[in-house]
Amino acid sequence: MDLSTLLFVIAGLALAGSVWAAVVSVREREPRAARVAGTMAVLAPLPYVAVALLDFPGHDILAWILIALPTVALLLWALPVRGPRYAHAEPRGRIDERTVMFARMTLEPGTERFDAYYREFPEHREPDDKWRARPGLLSPNARHHHSRLFSATDACYKTIEAMQPMVDGDPQPRSGDDDPEALTRFLHGWLGKIGAASSGVTELRPEHWYSLTGRRAPIGVPAELPHAHALAFTVEMDKDMLDRAPKAPAIVETTQQYLNAAVLAVQVAMFLRSQGYSARAHIDANYRVVCPLVARDAGLGEIGRMGLLMTPELGPRVRIGVVTTDAPLVVSPRTRDASVLDFCTICEKCADVCPSAAIMTGPRVDINGVTRWQIDQEACFSYWCSVGTDCGRCVQVCPYSHPDNLMHRLVRSGVNRSAVFRRVALKLDDMFYGRKPPSRELEDWMGEP
Ligand code: SF4
Ligand code: SF4
Repeated sequence: MDLSTLLFVIAGLALAGSVWAAVVSVREREPRAARVAGTMAVLAPLPYVAVALLDFPGHDILAWILIALPTVALLLWALPVRGPRYAHAEPRGRIDERTVMFARMTLEPGTERFDAYYREFPEHREPDDKWRARPGLLSPNARHHHSRLFSATDACYKTIEAMQPMVDGDPQPRSGDDDPEALTRFLHGWLGKIGAASSGVTELRPEHWYSLTGRRAPIGVPAELPHAHALAFTVEMDKDMLDRAPKAPAIVETTQQYLNAAVLAVQVAMFLRSQGYSARAHIDANYRVVCPLVARDAGLGEIGRMGLLMTPELGPRVRIGVVTTDAPLVVSPRTRDASVLDFCTICEKCADVCPSAAIMTGPRVDINGVTRWQIDQEACFSYWCSVGTDCGRCVQVCPYSHPDNLMHRLVRSGVNRSAVFRRVALKLDDMFYGRKPPSRELEDWMGEP
């Protein structure tokens, strides 16, 4: 192949790749990315075509430089380059569920429980009084109040509430011993069929359990159950709905996926009980375990800057369901993925867009002996109480939240492999989607607020 032909081939590939990226971006309803890819479709092939057609002094040198550019880019993507080493954070001790914000928001002023809590944790009184002074989640006075969408969210919460009596129960008599491998294979396969995006099993460790229950009666009792294993799974949150965060569609979607995760968890727990095992579903407003930790140890992802589980395929754009059980299950392999920690260290996009400055910038720090990022849960929840939704801007803009299609899978595979490509990919994400991607407007079917 002569030089001119090679230049035409690369020009053709650049054109095809850019057009493909533009079409995918249009389908993803990402106008900025479509514009950037469209511009690239025009500009990228031009120098190749020009050099292929023209003759001038130094022609061959320029031709080889142009040929080298995509070659270098391909090598950056393909060659494994290990980045900085990161210590994997292991929690020390258990979290008291009474102290998490979702438990604190159930405290009612004037009750003995309210007074007892702030006697024990006086440092929480001032920040909690601040968010209590705001309109509150789903409030008609909140900034993003939307009558229909808030009612739809409330309907989800009520449906989940109706499922609460089903999370636990007595197991049926066991007819015989199960083959752990066959049982585990069945559970993963079944979960995949009924809507889980991923699933994994971990052995339960003390720090997976809350120390004391805090959100649902009986409150203040040890949370641990006599279960050796947890089956964790994720369900996908709809990107199109989340792209409207922090407006009302975001909380509709979050709640919908809490509900979907609850349905799956309750089904699985019922199935295991029917097989003669003790099993409990951990669903919204009724957890005994710290779900992101359990899911991480079940091999489903890593914990990122915003304190959420980051899955390889969907990033933080998932909700987690967990079933704990005494059934003999096969533990999933856990490969620790340092690329997520490295990417979160350089990215900080979620911190940049967070309207309440609740997400840390900078590297992980030592918090109670554990090296990690920690979000300011009071600041985050205060913002929720102003807007009436659970915000979700951080999840919306995370580069790992892009749809799980071929284009983004190609980028993710380079991000996983190469510390150098990670830095390039971050710049590309900013270029295609913006450092602070806008929140999309509501759709017609959602109606007026
Ligand atoms: S936005 Fe960036 S820093 Fe934040 S969680 Fe996602 S990858 Fe990590
Ligand atoms: S949900 Fe909103 S306020 Fe809370 S951390 Fe994420 S971006 Fe910040």
